[in-house]
This record gives sequence, structure tokens and C-alpha cells, in this order.
Amino acid sequence: MASGKIGVSTKDLFPIIKKFLYSDHDIFLREIVSNAVDASQKLKVLASTGEFKGEVGRLAVRVSVNKDAGTITVSDNGIGMTREEVEKYINQIAFSGAEEFLEKHKDDAATIIGHFGLGFYSAFMVSDRVEIFTRSYREGAQAVRWECTGDPEYTLEDTDKAERGTDIVMHVSDDEKEFLEEGRVGELLNKYCKFLPVEIVFGKKKEWKDGKNVETDEDNVINDTNPAWTRKPSELKDEDYEKFYRQLYPMAEDPLFNIHLNVDYPFNLTGILYFPRIKSNIDINRNKIQLYCNQVFVTDSVEGIVPDFLTLLHGVIDSPDIPLNVSRSYLQSDGNVKKISAHITKKVADRLEEIFKKDRKTFEEKWDDLKIFIEYGMLTDEKFAERAAKFALLKNVDGKYFTFDEYRNIIKDNQTDKDGKLVYLYATDKASQYTFVEQARGKGYDVLLMDGQLDTPIMNQLEQKWEKSAFTRVDADVIDRLIVKENAEALKLTDRQKQELTEVFSSKLPTMDKVNFSVQLEAMAETDFPVMVTQNEWMRRMKEMSAMQGGAMSFYGEMPDSMTVVVNGNHPLVKRVLDGMEKVTADRLAPLYDELSAAEARKAELQKAKEGKKDDEVPQADKDAMADAEKRIADVNSRKRDELKAFADAEPLIKQLVDLALLSNNMLKGEALSAFVKRSIELM
Ligand code: ADP
Repeated sequence: MASGKIGVSTKDLFPIIKKFLYSDHDIFLREIVSNAVDASQKLKVLASTGEFKGEVGRLAVRVSVNKDAGTITVSDNGIGMTREEVEKYINQIAFSGAEEFLEKHKDDAATIIGHFGLGFYSAFMVSDRVEIFTRSYREGAQAVRWECTGDPEYTLEDTDKAERGTDIVMHVSDDEKEFLEEGRVGELLNKYCKFLPVEIVFGKKKEWKDGKNVETDEDNVINDTNPAWTRKPSELKDEDYEKFYRQLYPMAEDPLFNIHLNVDYPFNLTGILYFPRIKSNIDINRNKIQLYCNQVFVTDSVEGIVPDFLTLLHGVIDSPDIPLNVSRSYLQSDGNVKKISAHITKKVADRLEEIFKKDRKTFEEKWDDLKIFIEYGMLTDEKFAERAAKFALLKNVDGKYFTFDEYRNIIKDNQTDKDGKLVYLYATDKASQYTFVEQARGKGYDVLLMDGQLDTPIMNQLEQKWEKSAFTRVDADVIDRLIVKENAEALKLTDRQKQELTEVFSSKLPTMDKVNFSVQLEAMAETDFPVMVTQNEWMRRMKEMSAMQGGAMSFYGEMPDSMTVVVNGNHPLVKRVLDGMEKVTADRLAPLYDELSAAEARKAELQKAKEGKKDDEVPQADKDAMADAEKRIADVNSRKRDELKAFADAEPLIKQLVDLALLSNNMLKGEALSAFVKRSIELM
């Protein structure tokens, strides 16, 4: 029997493993099982090159828990180790600069374990004693037993072991007893070992018999040794991809598409990504992309490795070239990882383009579900946005889909305004914006449906990219001003008529919480609506963006909505209001106008006298006279307003027209609505 001290620096290592690596402690099983898998695969290789001439037999890794003995055992029938190999691979963890490195990374378990190939030593995270029983595949090899209690002292002695291979026996420490529960071990195996390339056997299969679960003779193999992503795309059918998806996420809805990644230059990467069908926001973070390294599960937090927008996808990525055992911040700055990330983006874009070209019908059918991923990608990844321009779709209110180019061609003749700007009209809700949609269509315009969560930022992005193009919601203005053409109608009213009419309608504006209304008189066709309510595109979009982003934009979120009550000065009903107004108010307003022009004339005269003079050169009498004139003007205006309001109060048609406009915008509710109904009956 021999005893000795393990390599130079392990005295520092053990406390670190036990203490700092605590948060990651369930990876121990992954490390031990994957060593066993490696040993099994090495044997296969040796057999194939003729170096090993014996019987390979069925290679399997067996994991068992003995609760009474307090042990977890991982056994393989791989290459095993000779005494010298145990000395070399297990004892000599010799590396230079170790202490310094350990000090620097002591908070980062994965970095330490990965950097030093200390996989085996992770067993000490959960054990206070570990034994290795091993016999090399070499002919006549002597089996040895190694034992270590977690400090650098170890023993190494000859032992009896009939079969080739290695048993690792972990004596689980008192505070890690949870790992002696079969359920817990099963959980770890299912998380980390589900797709390992060598069979992992965990006890026997169970069967329901006579009202209880009984063990059968059949091995319980917990893994699929040949998962879909390791196979050639040409060997796989749609069903295989679907089946594999079920293996990963038993509860999820069927996915939309899959993308089989298969890269061998300039790095190795395989995997299958799925575009999931997302029913609600809750689904988004539940099932994640799983990252594997040679079929060993590493993590399902792939941020930094795959582009941000692709973290919403499902599936598997497997690459031996991603330095998995280093810290996240290192990963994100690693040049190789950036290349991999860029490459995945390109592959995803290529595949989407291919599906779009090959089977546009299917692509369109799935677009509504797919759109959120693609738009998110376009917003966060410049390169992807460029590529997506070939297959991203716009949908109009009739449910027809167009590429960006196709749509531009369709609308360019009819929807270019007098300044050469191409106007993309859209609705966000077909039902509540129905009136406006119909008016736009009446003009032969096409209207897009932009009801997606990311449509507002996407429109902002496209406007920046495309020359002379703007998106405008159908209710942002009256139809003739949505797309201003040369032959705009003229308003056939005098300034005084305009001003009085504006006053009359302003006195009948609704009061609503967080909404500001203002009146605007417009020249529209006689056949258009008499009054409409529109909402300024720019302000509305700012508010929508602020709701999405918060932060610096939240200023806009606090602002009230600004709505415009547009009065069609050419409509017969508005003309009727105008005629009535003039008839009722002309006599009463006449003396007011006389007074007003006198006061204004006086003011103008004083203004002229003041010109070119400094303030202290103006006589006090003139200053007083000016103040007096201004007061008279304000006073007359206020009386004028009262007269017009008195008229508006007595003429139900005005309020009725405003309410009708609100009603067609779905904005007339509660008390206001019932007042409207009553008034309508009276008017009839
Ligand atoms: P790594 O696997 O990263 O090299 P480990 O600490 O996990 O580091 O293992 C060290 C070495 O010990 C392995 O490279 C291998 O040579 C040997 N080893 C560990 N487990 C076994 C096993 N079950 N069978 C044969 N050799 C093993």
C-alpha cells in the first residue's frame, strides 16, 4: 500500500471546492458520469484501431445509490486505469501559477473546475470520502483502489476487481444527504445526462403491477444516446424533429419551424433550434435553449452565446468550441463566441429565407406567430435586420401578406404625397378604427394591420431605413391630410366664420381624464364625415414607445393623449350650424365687433407711437392707454365667447356632431353615451 500527497496546490483547492463551489454542487454527478462516458468511448476507439483486442461487450455506465451505506456509485466498463495512470491523472494536478489563479477565480466554480480539468475532484463537493476501484483494459493489469478523504492525503493499493473499468464510490457527507434520494439523483441524471452518447443505467425499469410499482428485470436507461441533433439532417423526417422537441419540452405546444445547425468550419457546432408557438408572455422564459458540450448538458442560460433575440427560441446547441467552463463576462467578450453567435444568426436567417422561398404558403400561415421573433431580431441585430428584409412580411387589413418590396410597389402610385413621400397607412385595431379604414379604402388606399407588440418600434426602424417613407395610422388625421395631394379641397369660409365656428365647437368638447381635445377646421369633401376625432401620430407613437421602454422616454408617458376634433367646414350639417350661428348671433355680435375694432385700432396706434423708443421714453399716459386697450380687447373677446357658447348651448346639433365622432372612435361611454341617446331621440 502506498500513500502520498496529491500535487502541489490541492491543499488550497479542497477548501475552495467545498466552500466556494457550493452553489454549483449538483454538477458533481455530471462530471463523474461524463468521465465514465469518456472512458467507455476511448475503449471503443481503441477497439476500432485494433489496440484493444478483447471483447468490448455492451458499454454502459451504471449509477446506483445505497442509502444504508451512504454512497453513490458510478461504474463503467471503459478503459480503466493502471496504478501509474491513477498517479498521473488523479494525483498530479500539477499546474503552474495555480495558487494565483485560484485566488483570482475563487468565486467562480465553473472556471476553476473547467480550467484545471478538475472534474473528478468535484466529487468532494458532496462527499467526505471518495474511493476509486479501477482495472485497466490492458492485458493482465492489476486492479487498484485509491481513496482520499478530502484533504491532500490519499492511499493507493492493489485490490481485487474482476471486470475491466472503473467504479467511483462517493461517500456522501452528512450535509449533502439529499443526494442519497433516488428521486434527486434521477433528477440530476435527467438534467445533465439525458443525451450522453453511452447508455446510462439507473436501476431497473419499474412497472405497475397489482396496485403497486414493481421493478422489472430490464435496465432503466435514462438517456437517448443518439439524439436528433447528432444525426444528419438528411436522415431526419419532420416527425423526428417533432419527437425530439417532445423529448426536450414534453408540455410545450408544437413548434412552428426547426433549424438544424451543422457547422464544422471554422468551428464545430451542431444543434436544432425551434421557433416555438408562444401563447402568452409567461411561456417565453419557461423553456429555454439548452447548451451542450459533446452531448453533456452545460446550461440553459445561453445569454451572451446566442444572439439576444434567439434566446427566445427553443432547442439545443452543442459545441466543443464554446469555452463553457469560463465566466459569463469572459464568454461575452470572447472573439470566438462572437463569431459563433454571428454565425447562428446567419444560419437562422438563411433557413427562414429558404422556407419562405420554398413554401411561402406555410410561411404566411405561421407568420403571425413568427413575427415577434423576427421583429425582435430586426430591432436588436443590425445584420439580421438586413437579411430579414428579404422575408419579413407586412399584413394588410384583409389578411394578405406582402414582402417589403412587394408592398412598396403596390402602394407607390396612389400613396405618394405631393412632396414625394410614400405613406404607409395602418390600423392597430380593425374594429375600433373601422370608419377610418373604410375612408382610406374609399380613396383606393391600402391599410396595413400593425397590431403586434413590436410593431411600433419596427415602424420607427423602417422609417429610418427607408428613404422618404412614413407610417401613419389611419386615424392620425382626416383622410385628405393623411396623404396630402396637390388637389386638396379649399375651405370656403371667411376668417371670422372660421374663428366663430371653432369657438362654437370648442365649447362642446368632452372632458376626459388624461385626454386633451382641440378643434381644427378642415376643408373636406361634402360627402366626408362632418366631424371626426383624430390622434396625432407622433405623440401617440412617443407614448407607445415610452410604455415599452420607460426610462428617458417616460416623460412622454406622463403626457395626456392629444386628440383633435376635426370639423369639416364643407359639410352641409356644419354649414347648417354656421347659418344658424350667424342668424342668431349676428345682431348681438355686431356692437362687439365695432368695439373690438376700435380697441384694436387704438392699440395699433399706440404700438406705432412706441416704435423705436426705449421703455423709459414712452410717456406714462400712453402706457396706461395701452393697458386699457388690451383689457378692452380681452373683455370683448370674452363676451363674444359667451355669446357663441350661449348659441352652442341652445343648438343640440353641435354636441350631437361631436358625440357622433366620439362614438365612431369608440370613445363615447357611460353618462355621455346615455345623454347622446336621449338627445338623439329628442332630435328625431
Ligand atoms: P478531465 O476529465 O477534464 O481530464 P478529470 O479530473 O475529470 O479531468 O479526470 C482526470 C483524468 O482522470 C481523466 O482525464 C482520465 O484520464 C482519468 N479518469 C477519470 N475518470 C476516469 C474513469 N472513469 N475511467 C478512466 N479514467 C478516468
